[in-house]
Amino acid sequence: MAIVVSLGEAVVVKKVLLAVVLVVTLFAVGSLAKPYTSIPWLYGAMILVQTPSVDQQRLIDQASRAVGDVFSFWDLPTPTPDTGRATPPQTDSQEYSDTWSSMLTQSPSLMLPRWVGSSQGTSGALQEANPCLSPWEEEHGIAFPGEDEEHLMLVPCPTWRGWRIMPLSIGVFPSREQLNRLFRNYTFSAFFGGVSPMDIYRAQDTGQKERYELLRLFPYRATVIMSADYRIHLLVHELTHWASWLWCERNGGDLFSLPRLIIEGFADYTADSLMHDDSWTRIAAAWAQQGGDLTDVPRPLTYQVGTSIVSLLVQEEGKDSFLEMLSDPAVDWDAVIPSLTPKWRASLGDVEFSTGDMSMYRAVLQGLALCRNLLAPVLPREAYDIVDRLYDGRGTMEDIDRFWKLVSQIPPKPSEEIWQEMIARIPSFMIVQSKDSDPDIRMVRARLQVKLEKYADNRDWQSFYTTFIEALRKVVAHYGTG
Ligand SMILES: [Zn+2]
Repeated sequence: MAIVVSLGEAVVVKKVLLAVVLVVTLFAVGSLAKPYTSIPWLYGAMILVQTPSVDQQRLIDQASRAVGDVFSFWDLPTPTPDTGRATPPQTDSQEYSDTWSSMLTQSPSLMLPRWVGSSQGTSGALQEANPCLSPWEEEHGIAFPGEDEEHLMLVPCPTWRGWRIMPLSIGVFPSREQLNRLFRNYTFSAFFGGVSPMDIYRAQDTGQKERYELLRLFPYRATVIMSADYRIHLLVHELTHWASWLWCERNGGDLFSLPRLIIEGFADYTADSLMHDDSWTRIAAAWAQQGGDLTDVPRPLTYQVGTSIVSLLVQEEGKDSFLEMLSDPAVDWDAVIPSLTPKWRASLGDVEFSTGDMSMYRAVLQGLALCRNLLAPVLPREAYDIVDRLYDGRGTMEDIDRFWKLVSQIPPKPSEEIWQEMIARIPSFMIVQSKDSDPDIRMVRARLQVKLEKYADNRDWQSFYTTFIEALRKVVAHYGTG
């Protein structure tokens, strides 16, 4: 069979080769003591980073149960594990890399049929091949780090709706501090989607060996990353991203091109429904009743307002039709969302609030949880407790004032360790800036960042802290509306 490769296809082939080389080098390099444990589970692999104390069985049970709950909530079948191979084999990494290179050099047609037009796959029993997996991967599984640097664990691909799918990896870090520090981003507590190859290579290129060793563990899109003190709600939320990603992939859509309100709304609507948490109603209603609309949702309200949109669409269309919309590239969300505004406002018009609800709304709107995380190393205990109270709906408006008062008091000069933790947070302001579309605001904060770096270099705590709070307030005021 002759393979004719056109220009466009040649690019794809190159990308495939690059991806293969990437995978091989990702797992074949490394000489540090192994800072992680990898264990197989029903749907993929768990990678526990420096977390010897994590109760592995509990984690596996919770994640497996959550996967079942999420898929059945949407009346979708749960992925089927490959029961033929209960224990993934450990493969010598050299052997694995040799297999790949010989396949590439001797029989490229084995590797690439589906990218160059043939629909032939090696797994005859399946209806269709998954374009994200090579036939070899469908047959043997996906490589994860094994019991030591010399070995790889080949995790078989589960099946879902006639497809072999990428096994799901769940990475667990000892604390949010360590997770945020690794990603140089203190604005998140967990995520779905894997580490971009660019980030991995940048870490390697710039000689950040330790960082590279950890980032390279999570190169696949089907990845959830979180810290060991996660809450079940968060685990369910991230697993819902996985389910919606699979759904979109399977039906020709692209999850990551959907508006954030829909992506996060879908995940939170699912998690809130499963956990019987309806606090989103009061927050979305407060926004609606104060005249807010769906085209100008402040970023801190994305999850709750997103949930209210998804809830409305499910009520109007039913779960099946909503899923169809989600994966249909023809749906123009920029038109759909504003057109919902009158119904959306009406659906939230009757909601009544307690003092605790209104304070919770203010706290979410002002991003107090984000502020707490950015200030964590120096924040007094009292401020911590205030944020907990507010987010639980047990706080008052005075609590919010008190929080800002506590924050504005300059803490005692910190130890070098705390300095490092605070300095590590500076790039988070840049992440927030890049999400803001107003160039003037971006300039203001870019200047604040330069100042912060200068004060940090001089270990000028008073100026550093004051500027940090100023930057924080600007984050709060402008954290990417829209
Ligand atoms: Zn999310």
